[in-house]
Amino acid sequence: MYKQVELNYSSDALEPVIDQLTVETHYGKHHATYTKTLNELVQKAGVADMDIEELLGTLDKIGDETLRQAIRNNGGGYYNHNLYFSTISGTASHAPTGILAEKIDKTFGSLEDLKKELTALALGQFGSGWAWLSADKDGNLFTSKSPNQDNPISEGTGRIPILAIDVWEHAYYLKYKNLRPEYVKNLFEIIDWKAVEKIYQRVTG
Ligand code: MN
Repeated sequence: MYKQVELNYSSDALEPVIDQLTVETHYGKHHATYTKTLNELVQKAGVADMDIEELLGTLDKIGDETLRQAIRNNGGGYYNHNLYFSTISGTASHAPTGILAEKIDKTFGSLEDLKKELTALALGQFGSGWAWLSADKDGNLFTSKSPNQDNPISEGTGRIPILAIDVWEHAYYLKYKNLRPEYVKNLFEIIDWKAVEKIYQRVTG
């Protein structure tokens, strides 16, 4: 049984970057529905109780095409939002430290350069989707974007996302309306780099 990550902040804690109603709707409705639907689908497909990263990395084993696509969408929706909601915080640490900080500088030049790259990907995603910072097991870092609820795992890259930027309109429309650039710019203010570091450590374990 897949469970939504618990928020370690109240729904108004991300104000003014993300308003309370958006958190309540995004987490309480959108994310909740992906999770509920995924749990129903994996029962149907006979793949319940798999580790979610393993499930998304082995979608081709699901023979029925309609079920496979539905699990890709809802499994991605479940997983992507767990990452998103656990790497933002009202009391965020504003910069990475340690090995991740060094790797970011080495790969992208600086944290500011990484933010620029992620911003370009987030704004360049036409329609709904995501921008990612991902890592491979050797600790190398990559940026990318995905449509819909895809991610680097379901795309078969073998990389694990460690930071997620949700650019579906439901993530920002109530407050920012059509101004995706404003939302993405402000989102960096609440990225919890301590949480990102922990995921990086897990991936590179
Ligand atoms: Mn979303």
